[in-house]
Amino acid sequence: MKTGLLYGIVASSKTRVRCVFCGVYIPKASKCIEQHTNGAKHKENIELMNENGICLLEDILHCKPCKQDLSEDESVTKHIESEDHANWMAAMDDLVDGEFITLDAYLSCEKDDVFCEVCNSSVNCSLLSIEEHVNHINHRANITERLKPLNGIFPVDNDDEVWCKVCDAYIDNTVQSILSHIDDDEQHMEWFSEIEDLIENQDVSIESFLTIEHENFAYCNKCHVEVICNSLTIESHVNSDAHLNQFGL
Ligand SMILES: [Zn+2]
Ligand SMILES: [Zn+2]
Ligand SMILES: [Zn+2]
Ligand SMILES: [Zn+2]
Ligand SMILES: [Zn+2]
Repeated sequence: MKTGLLYGIVASSKTRVRCVFCGVYIPKASKCIEQHTNGAKHKENIELMNENGICLLEDILHCKPCKQDLSEDESVTKHIESEDHANWMAAMDDLVDGEFITLDAYLSCEKDDVFCEVCNSSVNCSLLSIEEHVNHINHRANITERLKPLNGIFPVDNDDEVWCKVCDAYIDNTVQSILSHIDDDEQHMEWFSEIEDLIENQDVSIESFLTIEHENFAYCNKCHVEVICNSLTIESHVNSDAHLNQFGL
């Protein structure tokens, strides 16, 4: 019989046990307990704990984002639907979007901090400290360095400017103007959305084009051919018979 904390089943009274994850009481019979722990709801609650920063301490559930213990009859599902919890998760998702900050280890209760990949450092997991971190000039500068090779942006002889290969345009070499070019420049964003649409699921790579200054080609990993990296030629390549045949269509 599967009892014990690993399965979330703890003693409650002579006749009943309690499932910590689901916040329910179950008759103290192996058959009932087995049925419960094999149930979809029970498994879903365990999965949701790992995605929501809820950990099991002794025999109580603790929510790290809310800094709060769940009451005995509160299931994981019920808690994450609560307003405070849902608001925290939504605000956090917004804050870390595009910032190269990973929450996974925090949410699965492996770590108490979150990790910023571009700064290679841990950050205390509160909305306030993460907001401070992402707005800090060092973080913005590290983000810029990370985004340059993904955006075809290269240094030029004079240090005052950088060159955007995609737009064939010169940009002031400051964190702010580079980020605003990447995030707000219409031509730049259009180029990426067009090309990304075309190569999605087509196994065509534009990485060398973006990271090597004088590379003019995208590469089709299916056909092993180079394709001039613009939307016209890529579009005609991904629709060519030769390419479609590689996919067995
Ligand atoms: Zn359960
Ligand atoms: Zn919570
Ligand atoms: Zn950072
Ligand atoms: Zn550009
Ligand atoms: Zn191809």
